[in-house]
Amino acid sequence: MDTRAADRLDAISQRIARAQERFGAPPERVQLVAVSKTFAAEDIIPFLEAGQRVFGENRVQEAQAKWPALRQAWPDIELHLIGPLQTNKAREAVALFDVIETVDREKLASTLAAEMQRAGRKLPCFVQVNIGLEEQKAGIAPAEAVAFVERCRSVHGLDIVGLMCIPPDGVPPGPYFAQLAELGRAAAVASLSMGMSGDFEVGIAMGATHVRVGSALFGHRPPLGA
Ligand SMILES: *Cc1c(COP(=O)(O)O)cnc(C)c1O
Repeated sequence: MDTRAADRLDAISQRIARAQERFGAPPERVQLVAVSKTFAAEDIIPFLEAGQRVFGENRVQEAQAKWPALRQAWPDIELHLIGPLQTNKAREAVALFDVIETVDREKLASTLAAEMQRAGRKLPCFVQVNIGLEEQKAGIAPAEAVAFVERCRSVHGLDIVGLMCIPPDGVPPGPYFAQLAELGRAAAVASLSMGMSGDFEVGIAMGATHVRVGSALFGHRPPLGA
């Protein structure tokens, strides 16, 4: 057993529990989504052995290469897609993932709905909101988010359980998380996926039900393309 993985998992779990106690929200336990993108199966296994079951990946192809084998050994894994999804990968994504956190446009909503129907698999989904209206980030504009959630439900029949966001870099994330929580109330969703290694406690203070933590668990990722 890799004690470093177990220790890191324990430390993050304790910080989540303390933040939740301190800020009194929400009643259920905040879910830790361990973001394993760029890390190999051998780096992930110690976390599975330490009891972690909920993981996040941002690329369909990368996830496809790692997770089917891990699932054979740990059938109760819950895999979240947290990266942008192209419609031509929707079929693979529906087959592989348990939760899609990045529904952000009409075409994707309708394609996912069709693929879920075809596969007989109705996955819980989050709508990703481009909370800082940043050109380089995915997500629906905040002003359109509530109406989009309604259309995902009524037109496409998707099971929208929450909202997800990645706030802008280099500025305090609190106001953005607060705005996502406000939109979540307006859209009547129960879950909010917000907060990463550097700011998950702020996310919890603002009502996060899911935090997506990568580097604080797995260590620094090699730069993209390396
Ligand atoms: C990589 C990633 C994370 C994890 O980021 P860390 O800062 O390493 O915790 C969380 N959410 C999304 C969408 C990501 O792509």
